[in-house]
Amino acid sequence: MPIEFLHRHSRRWNRLYRETRMVALALKSPNHPVLAHMVVTRRCNLACTYCDEFDDFSKPVPTAEMVSRVDRLAALRTTVITLTGGEPLLHPDLEQIIQRIRRHGILAVMVTNGYLLTPERIKNLNRAGLDRMQISVDNVQPDGVSKKSLKVLDQKLRWLAEFAEFPVNIHSVVGACSEHPEDALTIARRATELGLISTAGIVHDAKGALRPLNSQQQQVIEDIENLSKPLFSFARHNPWRRNLVRGLPNDWHCGAGGRHLYVCEDGLVHYCMAQRGYPAIPLAQYSQEDIEREAKASKSCTPYCTIFCIQRVALLDRLRENPRKALEELFPPQSADGRSNLPLPVRVLGALFAPPPGRPSRRFLRKTALRFLKIH
Ligand code: SF4
Ligand code: SF4
Repeated sequence: MPIEFLHRHSRRWNRLYRETRMVALALKSPNHPVLAHMVVTRRCNLACTYCDEFDDFSKPVPTAEMVSRVDRLAALRTTVITLTGGEPLLHPDLEQIIQRIRRHGILAVMVTNGYLLTPERIKNLNRAGLDRMQISVDNVQPDGVSKKSLKVLDQKLRWLAEFAEFPVNIHSVVGACSEHPEDALTIARRATELGLISTAGIVHDAKGALRPLNSQQQQVIEDIENLSKPLFSFARHNPWRRNLVRGLPNDWHCGAGGRHLYVCEDGLVHYCMAQRGYPAIPLAQYSQEDIEREAKASKSCTPYCTIFCIQRVALLDRLRENPRKALEELFPPQSADGRSNLPLPVRVLGALFAPPPGRPSRRFLRKTALRFLKIH
């Protein structure tokens, strides 16, 4: 038992170290992809009616091809790779692909509908070194729109709570099954009860744009955010989501094509899952110039975009470009005297990388932190 305890804790600290390094690298350099999504197979074992990212016949991308795509992303200095589909668990060599990602020091994440999880498969994913898993659960009872329901998946969530050595995020998309918006709250409560992480997204159309939420759906999002109070949660401190929930546009820069790459089953790089076709260049030929050009290009879809994982990357860029302003937007003053309520880790990072005007720069401490994180 003590050995298992030590093993889990050493994995947790190792992951925390690598995640901190990923953030520090993004804050230091604007010229590498922070996050890439890679489709391992377009085939899915389900058929949610709102989804257009699957079919029921495609073969898995050959393993040798997947390995060479991982190597190419590593050469471009990508820091996080999320394996997606279709349903990634349908790929027979998924664990081998994860191992290859980890061998490059890249964070390995996967998105799944969870149907094919068994205790043995979870243990295989542990052994392969998976860093994080996201499961989307759409409703409490399966319906004509989606079978990703709590009723079917509850046993899988219990196995994950028992066996997974990686964090599991249960994601419910508010508005995906519009008949029972309160289901998202029931799902989030169950995830919290099992010690898993719960987050909520907002349903978007085929182009990634907002579909307006009614007042009940807005309330559900707020209730889910209030369920847990972690030190920092992008969901709770996302300045863009606050506007989107109310149907308002946002003013931000999307670095897709540079800071985020979506690699489809054919090995082409696209901006994101919703903007396939741009720039649609083969990953094998994707160059540093492509990354820098696309990271700067403005995209007309930004005002109503609801793709939060890419906004998370944009937030890091905003922090690098204008750290004090970004921190003030993220943590507006809440006390009557206007003092900020920055959480401690954010205050430490702010002091190291963005000291307030008039305060001495912590160059020595900053250099030491970068050396510790092996960032040169
Ligand atoms: S499980 Fe995921 S990939 Fe499969 S149809 Fe549903 S949303 Fe699409
Ligand atoms: S703003 Fe960026 S992430 Fe959002 S849909 Fe457009 S290209 Fe995709």
